[in-house]
Amino acid sequence: MTDTYCLFCKIASGEINADVIYENDYVMAFRDINPQAPTHVLVIPRKHIATINELVDTDQYVAGALHLAAKDIAKQEGIAEDGFRTVMNCNSAAGQTVFHIHLHVLGGRDFSWPPG
Ligand code: 5GP
Ligand code: ZN
Repeated sequence: MTDTYCLFCKIASGEINADVIYENDYVMAFRDINPQAPTHVLVIPRKHIATINELVDTDQYVAGALHLAAKDIAKQEGIAEDGFRTVMNCNSAAGQTVFHIHLHVLGGRDFSWPPG
């Protein structure tokens, strides 16, 4: 695995299977393999971006597309009205384990604050 063809790049290309529930020109979303809530979806850019720290100005559209997708997915999954949580971990202190940015969309249960 290289920095620019990682696990989520392989899911984006179809080389590795995932339960894909949403896609457009800029992003795609699939169910997390180890769900932490009844709904746990990962939204990724098709473009490889390792962490939030690597975002550049020209990623503005794709960064917005991640959140617009989260909104559509929440509605699609029936969690929009009750409420849901979006999380993007950055680097080790936050628990990032896959270095291709992904927005977690979690719902279907209550969440506490502050997060663990
Ligand atoms: P992170 O810890 O980087 O914020 O989140 C990585 C997420 O990717 C974890 O929730 C983990 O369960 C999920 N994940 C890791 N490998 C795979 C995989 O091969 N397929 C799917 N669908 N999810 C994965
Ligand atoms: Zn990647």
